[in-house]
Amino acid sequence: MTVENLMDKLVAHCKANGFMFQSSEIYGGLNGFWDYGPLGVELKRNIKEAWWKDMYQNHNELAQPQNAPSTYDMVGLDCTIIMHPQVWKCSGHYDLFHDYMVDCRKTKKRYRFDQVRGRWVTHDQKRVFVTTMAEPEQEQEDITRRALKLFNLRSKDIEKIQFEERVLTLDKLTSAERANLLGPDTDEIGTLTDPREFNLMFKTYVGALSGEEGAAFLRPETAQGIFVNFKNVVDSTRIRVPFGVAQIGKSFRNEITPRNFTFRSREFEQMEIEFFCHPNQSADWYQYWRNRRLQWYKDLGLDSERLRLREHEQDELSHYSCGTADIEYAFPFLPPGEYGELEGIAHRGDFDLRSHSEGKLDPKKRPLEVEVDEQGSPRHRGSGKDLTYRDDLTSERFTPHVIEPSAGADRAMLAFLCQAYTEVQSSESGGKFESRVVMRFHPRIAPYKAAVLPLVKKDGMPEIAAEIYGALKKKFNVFYDEKAAIGKRYWRQDKIGTPYCITVDSQTLVDRTVTIRERDSMEQWRVPIDSVVAEIEKRIC
Ligand code: ATP
Repeated sequence: MTVENLMDKLVAHCKANGFMFQSSEIYGGLNGFWDYGPLGVELKRNIKEAWWKDMYQNHNELAQPQNAPSTYDMVGLDCTIIMHPQVWKCSGHYDLFHDYMVDCRKTKKRYRFDQVRGRWVTHDQKRVFVTTMAEPEQEQEDITRRALKLFNLRSKDIEKIQFEERVLTLDKLTSAERANLLGPDTDEIGTLTDPREFNLMFKTYVGALSGEEGAAFLRPETAQGIFVNFKNVVDSTRIRVPFGVAQIGKSFRNEITPRNFTFRSREFEQMEIEFFCHPNQSADWYQYWRNRRLQWYKDLGLDSERLRLREHEQDELSHYSCGTADIEYAFPFLPPGEYGELEGIAHRGDFDLRSHSEGKLDPKKRPLEVEVDEQGSPRHRGSGKDLTYRDDLTSERFTPHVIEPSAGADRAMLAFLCQAYTEVQSSESGGKFESRVVMRFHPRIAPYKAAVLPLVKKDGMPEIAAEIYGALKKKFNVFYDEKAAIGKRYWRQDKIGTPYCITVDSQTLVDRTVTIRERDSMEQWRVPIDSVVAEIEKRIC
């Protein structure tokens, strides 16, 4: 199966089975926005719940976790999406959170500068950089077709043009080289503008003020809500450093080219921890969180072979970071050997707490207004609040360092979907082979944990099945199905990833036992009705 084929099939499977729909689809959709359907909402909620349970709820502050420098505390937080605009000035997002984009003057399309790929193509001493936004599989075909058209040649003249081997992105070309390029959706040379900065924050206006006075932003990350509440958390909980604050919530980025299903969306959810520690221990905590987070994805079923932890190069680091590692997954829509980011673990030093405390915001001045000092340099205007921490045992006062494991719930879900999607060949009763889909989700994240199926719709079987269904329903999301042949009903559950099917059959009427079938091994065994709940519980937690 080709990559493109696989992604098309996965997208179609997600739509047909109610995992995901394009937002506002009946109006033609809105690019970069996705709705989660009946199954998707369960899958995503289970991923977020697994994260919350593993990182926060089940964390035992009395026991030192394996490979951790010491014991630590965890608390939770839920902050607003719109915050004081000065938060974004101090975090650096107002000035630095941008991508470079280029516009096509002819087609009016806009592209991310670093995403436009292409090749040098030469014909008759004329050298043109032909760009493409086609999927990797069709890149060469698209470039060839458009190069032939540009040089007014026919397919049989292909030997008359030379392609340079390397595929390059636009940002790898000098500005002189960029003069000679063919935009991705046009047949004229020189229609792309120079790269320009484009801030990724969505702007809105708070209250009745529609001018810049009321300007505010939808948060592009959940982290800042945690930093600005650092003092509130310390004062209200009497928690001691080291500790982590966990938060799950929506973030918004006006991405220039949202693509690859939900991988790059404009509205998405993040699962973030800001971990506050003593500066002397921050390097060790950084190691701890990198390994802990990588293991989390493996434990929930992502294949180790398709996962990697990549340390950022010095020139790749964000303005605040002393070290960042990305957990990456070999998504099937990427060319072989390429990986996409699932989560970033950043060592942010004391940048955030220092930045939000330094300086003093003048309440008479409009937020974000640039205030300059005598030398004409912009003055930093933090809250002016003391965000240092005093250790009551040692009396030491310091600004804690922060380690930030920042994960995307939607990207994690996409990786789990890609990993789970499996096509198997099954023989039907007529002996002919049929390809069908099994979604091999880890039981913890599967939308339905079990399905209850009476073998036939008579002899009291539906009544017993309904009883079992009711008992399971109190604990888990469970499906009830009495329509169609039992084999078909098993396949229906395999297709949506239900790990266990419980069948009430004629033997149940004799000895009050039922069959349990496991999705991946298709193994079956019998258990007494009274132990069904415990049996399922034991296997999915
Ligand atoms: P990328 O380089 O892919 O744009 P990033 O490095 O900007 O990501 P972070 O700012 O570190 O991402 O955000 C943390 C996590 O939030 C990412 O690892 C990802 O899982 C998720 N995330 C970020 N941007 C998006 C997006 N546009 N759509 C979906 N998830 C996102």
